[in-house]
Amino acid sequence: MSFIKPSSIQKDKNIVALIGNPNVGKSTLFNAITGMKQHTGNWAGKTVEIAKGKYKFNNKDYILIDLPGTYSLSATSAEEEVARDFVCFNNPNVTVVVCDATCLERNLNLVIQIIIANPKVVVCINLMDEAKKKNIHIDIEKLSNRLGVPVATTSARNKKGFDDLMKKIEYVCENTPKLPITIKYSEYIEDAIDKITKHIKNYGINKRIIAIKLLSNDNSFLNALNSQDNFDSLYSTELKKELSNCRLKLLSEKISTDSLQNIIISKTVKTSEEIAKECIKMKKQSDKDLRLDDILTNKWIGIPIMLFLLCGIFWITIEGANGPSDILSSFLFWIQDMLSRFFLFIKAPYWMNDILVKGMFRTLAWVVSVMLPPMAIFFPIFTLLEDFGYLPRVAFHLDHAFKKAGACGKQALTTCMGFGCNAAGVVGCRIINSPRERLIAMITNNFVPCNGRFPTLIAIINMFFIGSMAPSTLNGISCAVFLMLVIVLGVVMTFLVSRILSCTVLKGIPSSFTLELPPYRKPQIGKVIVRSIFDRTLFVLARAVIVAAPAGIILWLSANVNVGDVSILNHMSDFLDPFAKLFGLDGVILIAFILGFPANEIVVPIMLMAYLAHGSLIEYESLTELKMLLVQNGWTWLTAVCTVLFCLMHWPCSTTFLTIKKESGSLKWTILSFIVPTIAGFTVCFITTTIVRILHLA
Ligand code: GDP
Repeated sequence: MSFIKPSSIQKDKNIVALIGNPNVGKSTLFNAITGMKQHTGNWAGKTVEIAKGKYKFNNKDYILIDLPGTYSLSATSAEEEVARDFVCFNNPNVTVVVCDATCLERNLNLVIQIIIANPKVVVCINLMDEAKKKNIHIDIEKLSNRLGVPVATTSARNKKGFDDLMKKIEYVCENTPKLPITIKYSEYIEDAIDKITKHIKNYGINKRIIAIKLLSNDNSFLNALNSQDNFDSLYSTELKKELSNCRLKLLSEKISTDSLQNIIISKTVKTSEEIAKECIKMKKQSDKDLRLDDILTNKWIGIPIMLFLLCGIFWITIEGANGPSDILSSFLFWIQDMLSRFFLFIKAPYWMNDILVKGMFRTLAWVVSVMLPPMAIFFPIFTLLEDFGYLPRVAFHLDHAFKKAGACGKQALTTCMGFGCNAAGVVGCRIINSPRERLIAMITNNFVPCNGRFPTLIAIINMFFIGSMAPSTLNGISCAVFLMLVIVLGVVMTFLVSRILSCTVLKGIPSSFTLELPPYRKPQIGKVIVRSIFDRTLFVLARAVIVAAPAGIILWLSANVNVGDVSILNHMSDFLDPFAKLFGLDGVILIAFILGFPANEIVVPIMLMAYLAHGSLIEYESLTELKMLLVQNGWTWLTAVCTVLFCLMHWPCSTTFLTIKKESGSLKWTILSFIVPTIAGFTVCFITTTIVRILHLA
């Protein structure tokens, strides 16, 4: 998939832009038509980039652009601006406004605004299958006549209606609709619009829209217009004069710029209502969604259900991953033996076998066998919940707490994304409009453990805190509960640090926003499983492998090249040891986290290398052996607790770090997002260690 800047596609032919409210099926439509894999999910705000794809129809080539979701052309967030600027200023040959058939009236507001700005529009009413289930009937012909543009109906998930949609796109590419809908305002406003329009040059956008934006002082739109390449000074002296005359005249009629904005919005809403009344017939709807939301968003029942679900996912992940993990590890270590024999057979120098097999391959084998099974279970379950529409309900529960912490409720969603990958969570912060709140969300995203840290957490919890006498199912459950408590601690730290930031360096009032609770949708189980394995699991694994392979060689070298009698790795860990002990860790653990900066997945392999005298990973057969090795090297339950805490709270990995730099555009904030979780981690470990030592508990 290619992500592009609008400017890079300006000159392409037959450009078709997909725009619409969030969660109406744009990405599903885009994927189905282009055969690509843009991420889809049942929550508002996940398409934060423009994606480009191609398709052919009637031997003509089309370029399809998937834009971020937007509610109106008066953009209020960065990604809404991207969508608006593309449709208004990049002159696509056709704009397809995708709507949700089950709540068409609300979607019509955007449809009307876009048709008025540029009538080369096809309205695509998606989710027709759901509308049918809910007994909603839409008179397409009447709707098309009222809007003055072609209307197509689709069911993107079932790949239905595409032929008709493409025909209509082809038609609008070649013909501009003749009688697009317009909205007339009161005499005074119309008079002002006429006067201003006369002083506006041709920019390829409806002059009336520019006049309205000037009169209502829509600075975001005007600044965007100003920054276009083909722009040459909008504000002529005559225009400025006319503008101030018109504003004065409107003021004398008690129409300020603010009230003009309100008049424009309410006129659009009213027109949508009228059209919806004429064209949509609804029979009595089922209130199944409402009943389910009464339970899932209820404070007393919903929050325990949320925690129970989280715990359940962890339990299934932990229990389910054990067996496959063992099989995979036996298989990979068998391959390792084969490789060693092969090197022996070809009489390769011994160091080659050591570096490539004991260094690189063993690290890789560890990363793959420990990471792959839990990810292959965790990601599909998480994606199923996402597709079902559960994530916004989680955000709903956390919304109030985030606002209290002086942050934005949408941070709940970016925090959830961080569970998969913190870098993805940081990119997701684009859905937060206020720059202050966006920074808070980026800086604190690292407090939820990403997939790279889960295996470390699970392994340590399993080794040190789960009774070996209990039946294995009970062990699995207690491990899941323990892991959930660690996650809850991470979320509490997110609130606490957000609060501290919003009272100090990032002071401000939390903005309000309307959290959209999308309808529950039956997840497409087969597709979700396949996609989450290919797009998420293998993607994360590939990244880990790419980092782990060279890291394995470097680690092997540092563990085997001696200075004096001691390896470089041990020199480094000895140096850090006294400092690390203050925090309940040891030099090896600290050096493992430092050298694990490229990817969190390699932290445990580094620890093992440093603990082992012969300097390469052991062939671990069970966690009991691993525990023995750690205990021999001085680990107590306190070391385990502090390692878990430090794993939860320390600097972001290199990918997340670079993503923060790219997204914030500032070195200062990037450094702060490195320092904040690190200080939090050291502080929490120090307090824990000191208390435990004072009380002589370990
Ligand atoms: P976007 O935010 O507009 O890009 O929406 P997505 O493409 O991510 O889709 C949002 C949700 O609607 C996903 O769960 C899709 O599987 C689902 N969806 C999309 N199109 C249809 C459809 O035609 N019918 C049904 N039942 N679900 C759909």
